[in-house]
Amino acid sequence: MCPTVRKPVSILFRCDASPKIGLGHVVRCLALADELHRNHGVADVSTIYEVFLPPGSYSSFGTATSCGGPHLQYCAYHSNFSYNGVDVKYSSMPSPSCSGCQWTGFSTEQNFEHFICHETREAVTDPDGNAWYDRSGNEADDKCAWSPAPFLDSGYGYQWEWSNTNSACVQKR
Ligand SMILES: [Zn+2]
Repeated sequence: MCPTVRKPVSILFRCDASPKIGLGHVVRCLALADELHRNHGVADVSTIYEVFLPPGSYSSFGTATSCGGPHLQYCAYHSNFSYNGVDVKYSSMPSPSCSGCQWTGFSTEQNFEHFICHETREAVTDPDGNAWYDRSGNEADDKCAWSPAPFLDSGYGYQWEWSNTNSACVQKR
């Protein structure tokens, strides 16, 4: 067993925020910086960095925003960026604080779980936005996101998943 000696690394994040663009970018940067700090500044190409936003803040992607923002157009999303030559993948999970991002009877945590399923699987099947999507532009989990109805299993919130094998939305293989 050899201890690994790593050189300290300095990383600078630029994080813009304003009433117009919201705090989403800052919150994402803080979460990523924290995670990179723990991993000595080394981004892992095989990791999907899951970023959760607290109630009262929202994320923005261009002019589109999540719950709480001025242009509600999505509940959560995944994306990627290049950092030191590493393709970093992340999922942005804002608080599901508006009715358009909640499923009837689900708790806040279960609504989060619904989106974790969705965005994490898509970050795997379409990590850079150029892999798995259908002719309508739907990624794997867009096809079954709200229909059939999201469901609970052992208390956790899930959505149905598209299966190429079954050519249908399925709960389990
Ligand atoms: Zn999606």
